[in-house]
Amino acid sequence: MEGGHSVFDETLLDKMSEECGVFGVYHHTETPQLIYYGLQALQHRGQESAGIVSSNHEFFTYHHGMGLVTEVFHQQEINRLNGMMGIGHVRYSTTGESKLQNAQPLVFKYRNGEIAIATNGNLTNAMQIRNQLERQGSIFQTTSDTEVIAHLIAKSMYDDIEQAVKEALSVIKGAYALLIMTNDKLIAALDSNGLRPLSLGKLEHSYLLSSETCAFDTVGATTIRDIEPGEMLVFDKDGIRSEHFTVQTRRAICSFEYIYFARPDSDIGGINVHLARKRLGKKLAEEHPVEADVVTGVPDSSISASIGYAEASGIPYELGLIKNRYIARTFIQPSQELREKGVKMKLSAVRKVVDGKRVVMIDDSIVRGTTSKRIVQLLKEAGAKEVHVRISSPPVKNPCYYGIDTSSREELIAAAKTIEEMKDFIGADSLAFLSMSGMLEAIGRQGDDVNHGYCVACFNAEYPTEVYQSQQSKTDKVRWGIEDEPIL
Ligand code: AMP
Ligand code: SF4
Repeated sequence: MEGGHSVFDETLLDKMSEECGVFGVYHHTETPQLIYYGLQALQHRGQESAGIVSSNHEFFTYHHGMGLVTEVFHQQEINRLNGMMGIGHVRYSTTGESKLQNAQPLVFKYRNGEIAIATNGNLTNAMQIRNQLERQGSIFQTTSDTEVIAHLIAKSMYDDIEQAVKEALSVIKGAYALLIMTNDKLIAALDSNGLRPLSLGKLEHSYLLSSETCAFDTVGATTIRDIEPGEMLVFDKDGIRSEHFTVQTRRAICSFEYIYFARPDSDIGGINVHLARKRLGKKLAEEHPVEADVVTGVPDSSISASIGYAEASGIPYELGLIKNRYIARTFIQPSQELREKGVKMKLSAVRKVVDGKRVVMIDDSIVRGTTSKRIVQLLKEAGAKEVHVRISSPPVKNPCYYGIDTSSREELIAAAKTIEEMKDFIGADSLAFLSMSGMLEAIGRQGDDVNHGYCVACFNAEYPTEVYQSQQSKTDKVRWGIEDEPIL
């Protein structure tokens, strides 16, 4: 099924992959404030834009803006929002242009009232559906694939929103943790592989939904459980109902959430992220020991793995690198040149810790190789005698089609270079990666599947969903399938 679609718009490509955070509240008097705090706890999942939509059962009030949650919302914006239920979203910029119109939750009017949608993930057939809808007369306002879901719901023959949502879910493919709100209902749904995290929490008599459990702790709520793959939850005046919109489920939680993306104080699938990272570090020490004086890690994502490596190897852990907290993640910079500048601004080596020492530098992953190269250089400039780089995941060789910006194949250093060549590129004295089996064992089992219930596709190309050939095209830029037969 090679591409060749006439209305394919290349300029849309990069904007539609979205790593994000979602937070929802059903039935609380302080809904807007709770969402505000919840989104702040999820800020690491997206810094480009933030938005909150609340409903008082009659109409929506909402506010969106570009930037961090604290930049977008002040007391006056929160005060303007009213109602006892709502949903919020933080959006991560990948390589595409950032625009306010793509800020979520998206809000639409349809024949039965208003609808707001917030998602985390990436639909693999969004472009295909969009092309077909446009040919049938739909006019899109954004470049976000979340809008596809809104159009599918709006054009459904069903008046009942739950049926209409189920119908839309039967068409969309890929990864999504989805929150949908109408004037009187809140609906949560997770894709049939459970690729992205989504949890249910409780605060007094209210229900909360969050991309990560760390946000429940922030607002003093308790975690009830994770949403199941293929599960849809409905909250309304009759209470809470759960059903599965598909029986064809196969758990494949994104392993990268444990490796890098999620916050260490979150639990995903009942497994704490910090402890999983510590075990990754321990396993790495067992698989790739090295004679050294000090272990250090790249803040913040590699600290847990470094502690694990230090504990297992007996080499003391030290704070060899310091991060300036007020600079956004390097990936947010659009060009390679800016990315490199970003890395320079972001990290400094502690000379007194590393000078004259043999340093083991732990990082969670190597994607483009920019970060490791720069850090090895920083450590050497600060006097490190040797720098041994140990990575707490296997080499990233394949692009992600499910919403994590692991980049296109040409940019992935491990796709083109051997480990020896990568070692030379980053200027390290030695370089080693954790094995796939070591990684899966360290994170822990979620199922009996060969990959233990995880998606590991960026490491081994075993994508848990169908990946259209056009997605694997030469450039890997085409992230959505274009099939010949109509799907609507
Ligand atoms: P690089 O090899 O320079 O592309 O960057 C790899 C570093 O970026 C690793 O240290 C990770 O901590 C971090 N990283 C890995 N994956 C992502 C991602 N999807 N978004 C942002 N940062 C990432
Ligand atoms: Fe996560 Fe990699 Fe799978 Fe993407 S391909 S969902 S980053 S494990």
